[in-house]
Formats: sequence, structure tokens, C-alpha cells
Amino acid sequence: LKANFSVFQDEDEEMNGFLTVLSDVTEEEKVERERREFVANVSHELRTPLTTMRSYLEALTDGNTWQDEQIAPKFLNVVQNESERMIRLVNDLLQLSKMDNKDYRLEKQRTEYIAFIDQIVDRFEINIRSGLSIERDLPNKRYYVWMDSDKITQVIDNIISNAMKYSPEGGQIKVKVEVQKHHIVTKVTDEGVGIPDEKIDKIFDRFYRVDKARTRQLGGTGLGLAIAKEIIEAHDGTIRAESRENQGTTISFRLPLMRKKRG
Ligand code: ADP
Repeated sequence: LKANFSVFQDEDEEMNGFLTVLSDVTEEEKVERERREFVANVSHELRTPLTTMRSYLEALTDGNTWQDEQIAPKFLNVVQNESERMIRLVNDLLQLSKMDNKDYRLEKQRTEYIAFIDQIVDRFEINIRSGLSIERDLPNKRYYVWMDSDKITQVIDNIISNAMKYSPEGGQIKVKVEVQKHHIVTKVTDEGVGIPDEKIDKIFDRFYRVDKARTRQLGGTGLGLAIAKEIIEAHDGTIRAESRENQGTTISFRLPLMRKKRG
């Protein structure tokens, strides 16, 4: 299509109109292809826990296995974990579909950002896995952001949970807030497994996981960062990742600051 465009570029307006139609069709095709891929992904993601549950339930109902005090609790535990993962997945899907809706509205309010971050980190610190530590580097001043604090909480929860999931024993997680002229940047750095260069841009795609088997074991749905990206973009912000394999990852997002009030 690009080649065609350069040939027709200097032609009359009719030709340009024709080209617009052509590119619309490809855009439509792209949307349609993405929709099909999405449905295929959802089906696959739901089928996996369902087939696991079915085989464990079959094993339990086979003979007297359900009465076996050694095996039965283990199998039931698998069924329970898988059903919980399905619930997380369906909840994430519902949220994405809500956000896709044109009428979706965020509940934005003026929020003091530093105290807000401090509280979230407090909550993680209380429940932290033994051997991990979390450090904060926050400015000593107040800064205000126009935001939906439930949604931004969800973003930070997801990023810090990932940092913890992929951290080694004894790893440190750092939460840093930096102020630029018109923006506030939040960075979460871990010392974990990292993400290969060629995969780093994909981690914000729906269902993308660097290592399917491992993240499935860790309970991930592959939707967390896709949701985070949509939430941040709905706040006119940006989100990005930097990483070095086996050294660690930094996920950072940038939100517009509210202008200071005079006086
Ligand atoms: P998941 O629910 O699988 O964690 P996310 O959308 O939150 O889904 O993340 C997508 C993928 O990005 C993860 O499966 C993982 O492979 C990778 N990833 C995210 N955060 C990190 C991190 N801090 N360190 C290493 N890999 C990460």
C-alpha cells in the first residue's frame, strides 16, 4: 500500500480518495484480526484451567480417590487455585471490556500524590514476602494529580506485585517518585529475572507473557500491564519498561501534574 501511495501521491483528488478507502479497509482488517486473536486468546486462557480442573475432578471421582486423605486435599487445592485464576481472568476481562466502552468514565479527583504512594507502599511493606525488602525514594513536598485514585492504585498494585513475583530471594524493590516540569514520574525497580530486549515492548499487550509456564504458575493472567497501560493513557500519561536480563526491571509511568495554585 505504501508503494502505491508514492505512485499516486501527485495524482488528482479522486485518486487520493481511493487511497483513503484502501487504508480504511486495512485498518478495518487489522481491527477484525485483533478481535479474532483476542477471542482465540480468551478461549485458550479459559480452557486451560478448565481442562486442568476437569482432569483433577475426574481423578478424584475415579474409584475411592476422593476418600484418600493424602491425595484428595492436594487435588482439591489444585481445583481451587485454578478456579481462582479463572475468576481473576474473567474480572480482568470485564474490566477491559468496560474500559473499551465509549461511555466509560474515570472518577478523577485532585489527589496529593506523595501521601497516596506512601500509603500504597505501607500496605505492601506489611505483607511483604520474607527475604524481600521495599525501599522508597519520595520527594519531601506535596504534589497534586488529577486522577482516579482507585484506578491508579490498581496500576501500582500490579507493578509492585510483578516486581515481587519476579524478584529473587533477598531482592530489593525500589519505589521512586521524580518530579519534572509538568509531570510526575513513578518508577518501580526490582532486581529480578528481567525481560529480554526483544520482548520488552510486548509486555503491555493483552495476554502477553515472557514465559507462559512460569507466569501461569505465579498466577498471572497476562492482562495486568495491558490494563495498567489503558488506565495510564486515560490519564494522559505514558508507561514504559526498561530491563536487563538477570539484573532487573524498571517499570515507570508518567502523569501530568496539576498546576500549582497561586498564593
Ligand atoms: P501477568 O499477570 O502474567 O504478570 P502482566 O500483564 O502483569 O501479566 O505482565 C506481563 C508479563 O510481563 C509477565 O507475564 C512477565 O513475563 C513480564 N513482567 C512484568 N513485570 C515484570 C518484572 N517486574 N520482571 C520480569 N518480568 C516482568
